Parts: sequence; C-alpha cells; structure tokens
Amino acid sequence: MSAYEIVHHEYDAVVVGAGGAGLRATLGLAETGLKTANITKVFPTRSHTVAAQGGISAALANMGRDDWRWHFYDTVKGSDWLGDQDAIQYMTREAIPAIIELEHYGVPFSRTPEGKIYQRPFGGMTTEFGKGPPAQRTCAAADRTGHAMLHTLYQQSLKCKAQFFIEYFALDLLMDEDGSCKGVLAWDLATGQLHRFRAHMVILATGGYGRAFFSATSAHTCTGDGNAMVLRAGLPLQDLEFVQFHPTGIYGSGCLITEGARGEGGYLTNAKGERFMERYAPSVKDLAPRDMVSRAMSTEIREGRGVGSEKDHIHLHLEHLGPDVLHKRLPGITESAKIFAGVDATKEPIPVVPTVHYNMGGIPTLYTGEAVTLKNGNPDAVVPGLMAVGEAACVSVHGANRLGSNSLLDLVVFGRAAALRTAELIKPATPHKKIPGASEEQSLARLDRLRNAKGKAPTATIRLAMQKTMQKHCAVFRDGPLMQEGIQELKGVIDEFTNDLGVTDRSLVWNSDLVESLELDNLLGQALITIVCAENRKESRGAHARDDIKDRDDRNWLKHTIAWRTGAKDVKIDFRPVHMNPLDAEVDHIPPVARKY
Ligand SMILES: Cc1cc2nc3c(=O)[nH]c(=O)nc-3n(C[C@H](O)[C@H](O)[C@H](O)COP(=O)(O)OP(=O)(O)OC[C@H]3O[C@@H](n4cnc5c(N)ncnc54)[C@H](O)[C@@H]3O)c2cc1C
Repeated sequence: MSAYEIVHHEYDAVVVGAGGAGLRATLGLAETGLKTANITKVFPTRSHTVAAQGGISAALANMGRDDWRWHFYDTVKGSDWLGDQDAIQYMTREAIPAIIELEHYGVPFSRTPEGKIYQRPFGGMTTEFGKGPPAQRTCAAADRTGHAMLHTLYQQSLKCKAQFFIEYFALDLLMDEDGSCKGVLAWDLATGQLHRFRAHMVILATGGYGRAFFSATSAHTCTGDGNAMVLRAGLPLQDLEFVQFHPTGIYGSGCLITEGARGEGGYLTNAKGERFMERYAPSVKDLAPRDMVSRAMSTEIREGRGVGSEKDHIHLHLEHLGPDVLHKRLPGITESAKIFAGVDATKEPIPVVPTVHYNMGGIPTLYTGEAVTLKNGNPDAVVPGLMAVGEAACVSVHGANRLGSNSLLDLVVFGRAAALRTAELIKPATPHKKIPGASEEQSLARLDRLRNAKGKAPTATIRLAMQKTMQKHCAVFRDGPLMQEGIQELKGVIDEFTNDLGVTDRSLVWNSDLVESLELDNLLGQALITIVCAENRKESRGAHARDDIKDRDDRNWLKHTIAWRTGAKDVKIDFRPVHMNPLDAEVDHIPPVARKY
C-alpha cells in the first residue's frame, strides 16, 4: 500500500489534454451524453494549439478551383508515401464538413469580399494532382487561427457541460492484466491531491514533444506526456524518427513565423541576396514542403551563404508586401518579428533558421482514433480502452513529413472521429469492474522516487544536455556516425537522470520542480526512441534526411517503425505495414514515385 490517499472518480470516457484535439473529442463525447471528464495540465486555452497561426486546410474552393482528391494526393505525396492512405482519404474528405462545422460553432474566420471563408496558399498544396498551380486551401483567421479555434471549442465544450479538471497532471495509464486501459492517475497541482479516473475509454490528446530539442517553436509544455505514458504501459510508439523542422523559426528565440507569410508572397534569400529556393524547387519555390525548404536553407548555411556575422541564418522578406497586407493578414507575426528579432517587418527582412516544429510520430492509431499495437502477428491489434488524437497520435496522416495546415485539420477530424467511435463502443453508465493495482503502484513509486531524488544535478541541467544532444545529433541532416555518437551521449544523460537527479521541493502543492522532472523523464524516453529509430532507418524519406544514405528505399523501408522502451536505455524495434489502400473507390491509391516539386 502506498502512502498516498487517492480520490476516486468514475466516468464513461476521459480525455487527457485540452488542445484542439482534446477539446474536439471532449465536445463530441459530451454531445452524445457520455459522462466525460477532461484532464489538462494547463488551462485549456493555454494549450499549444493557441499558438497556431497560419491556418487549417480544406478543399472548399472558395478562392479558386479545388477538390478534396487533390488534397488527398498532396498529403500522400507530402508524407513521402509513409502516410496511411485510408486515413488520409478520411481526413481530406471530412475536411470540408469539419470546417463548416467550425464556422457554425463560431470560429471567426477571415473573409473574402463576398463573405466566404478566406483561404491562402500553403507549402505542398497544389491542384490537378500536382500538375496544376498552387491551391488556395488554407482557411485562416488572420494569423491567429489556432487561437480562434481553441477558444471556440472550449466555449462549446462548456456549453455541453463537459467536466474539466484543470491543472491536473496526468501521471500514468491504469492498465488491466489483459493489456486494456482502464483509466488514468492524475495529480492535482493546486492541492497536491492524487486522483484516480476510471473510464471505459481514455483518449490521449497530450500533444507533441518538441521540447526534446534545444530550439523548438512549441511551448515549454510540449513534453509528450501521453506518449511516455504509453511507453510505460508497455506499448509502442510509431515513426518517432520523423521530426519536422519549420523553415522559419526566428533566429535566436525559435519563435515561429508562419508559413502563411510565404503563402502571402514572402520569400527567402541568402547572403548574396539570391532567392535560392528557385534552384531547389523550380516550380513551387518558397512554397515547397517544409522538409525541402529546411534542407535548402541548411545547405545554403553549410556552404557558406548564410547571413549575419556568423553566416548561420537566412533572411525572410515580407517588406515588399506593404504595411496594409501585413497588418491585415499577418499582424501577429509582424509583432513577433519586432519583439523577438527587433525587426520592423514592413521595412527589413526577418532573420530565420529551421527550428523543430512538429512530431509526425506518436501513438499508432487507426483512423477511428483507436490505439493499436503489434500483437501475435497482427499489426493493427486494437488496444481496448485507449485512443489517441492530435499531435500525440500517429494515425498516420502525415507520414514522413506533414504539410502545413494539415495538423489543425487532423485535430478536429480525428477528435470528432474518436468521439463517434467511443459512442459506438460504450453504453453510458456501464459499471466499472474491479481495478488492478499494479500500474497504479508503479506510477506512485515513480512519483515518489523523483519527488525524493537527492542527487546533485538539477532538472534544468539534465534537460539542457538532452536538448543539445538531440539538436546536434538528430537535426535537419543526420548520418550514421553522428547519430551513434548521439545515442551514446543520450544514454549518458539518462544515466545522470537515473543516478544523480536532484529535486529540491518535496511538497505536492504547486511543485514546478517535480512537474519539470516528470516531464523530463517523459522527454528522455522519446528522445531515445527518436534517435535510435533514426539511426536504424537506413534511407532518407521526408523529414528524415541522411547525409550518408541520400535515397528513399521503398523496397526495404516503406513501413512504419514501431518501438518499445524495454529498459531505461533499451529500445526494441519492429515494423507495421503502411496502409497503401484508400478507404473506398472515391479515390485511387497513389503509387509511390519520386517526390519532386
Ligand atoms: C507555433 C506553432 C504554430 C503552428 N501553426 C499551425 C498552423 O497554422 N496550422 C496547423 O495545421 N498546425 C500548426 N501547428 C501545429 C499544431 O498547432 C499542433 O500540432 C497542434 O495544435 C497540437 O494540438 P494537440 O491538441 O494535439 O495538442 P496541444 O495543443 O499541444 O495540447 C496538449 C494538451 O495536453 C495537455 N497535457 C499534456 N500533458 C499532460 C499531462 N501530463 N496531464 C494533463 N494534461 C496534459 C495540455 O494541458 C494541453 O491541453 C503549429 C504549431 C506550433 C508550435
């Protein structure tokens, strides 16, 4: 028996996370009358979704010809064929009603003169199955689209009487002996109380883990806690080697300048003032997908054509767009440029550099949201009682590289899908069976160990060592020896965490020292799997670009990596096939070809 007293709750469904994905799932569940709780470590409208600027994709054809099948094609190609085509079909087809639904919920989209939802071009979004000009497909509320969505979804969830447990930190999944999920254990940060939430369905919507790297556009709270809970439950994560670098993080702070800036006509130059993207992607230039633009920028910098005294960044030009366009369409980033780079974007270029932005990998799921694992030879074995949505999930619609504005879409489409599937699976007020104690005891033991850690190394020091290792050894360009060195270095960091962590605050009330240590523990497992799987994948595909093996290898590597953490420093790797067939005959399967723009 542990020394902790635990408050017991019973719900039909529990959603962990109140970003766009978690709120859309919560809203959907509450609408069906299932008794639903949402647990979130930050206030809902502070989730990272609030920072999304550029927009959300859907082939509405408000500003030119468009077709969801073109969106489907672009997403498959953007994923470098690692995306599951059934899930991509589901997402791109559902995109259109999903946006109309958001509009009806009250999202204040920008408008065209005739009053339709405004849409801007984004990287990799084209027409005519890649043969036509760029599509104007990304719906935007100025450059604050995520902000608008998150506030709308939160208000709608409150209207439907969903119950929120705000500033509760989820610690672990509660698992049954048969491998099904039965609930979560959480810590109320304000009172120090521990809470056990029994549920027939747990939906993880805990976001990405960008903070495993030194320079990231994501919030400090993006520590992939749900992913780590899945690892501790003995389940695998998928495709973690695919980490997206956004081309335009502000040099120094990493703060994001949306791709919408290039969508509105912005362009990049090197130290010679050349618009170098014309060389790398002659047809779409600055609107090439993110992996390609980031590699082009890194190449320019490596070959000595970077700007600044250290020749280590690139210029983004918006000044030619004029103050009117900037103030109307890009007000937020004009402000960010001033605050974080000291630059007046109406007059001078913004210094930018590729920065970690998005995790394509995560908890493997079907397009219904149901989490899966490889079991007895079945690569799509559903984990009963567990779902994942949003950046925490790997459905996989983004494959090896996500297209800009497809994430906000993924949040609402799969948040909704998860709620619908849960309503099919669970009858309201089904009684809960007896709870197994093992996973709870393990979770409390871990909490206790970290809370009482008496070593010499503060969390911040160990975290910095991990972030620097990942940034140096697993960045835009990687190669075998660099990653092998990184793996050894990271194992050293894990040793330090295990043997020498020092937490000074022993209380359970607002103990940010302990929160950050739990988050660091979560990050370390994901960092390890990321770099081990990156080293293991002997090809280049999408965001995974190896200097030593430059080609994509469909014969050996057209498959998802899945990986378990079998010990503090041990990773077990296996694979799942990519779903190459769409859901139905409304689209044709897109066979792999070389990915050129
Ligand atoms: C700066 C920036 C701009 C972006 N712009 C765009 C864009 O324009 N278009 C686009 O499509 N995509 C964009 N993206 C990507 C997209 O915004 C994210 O992928 C998406 O918002 C993630 O949403 P989410 O709901 O999965 O998680 P998040 O919004 O990150 O929310 C995670 C939630 O989980 C909760 N949580 C986490 N851990 C715990 C725990 N242990 N216990 C309890 N709760 C927990 C948090 O409290 C939070 O509520 C952008 C990303 C960034 C960083």
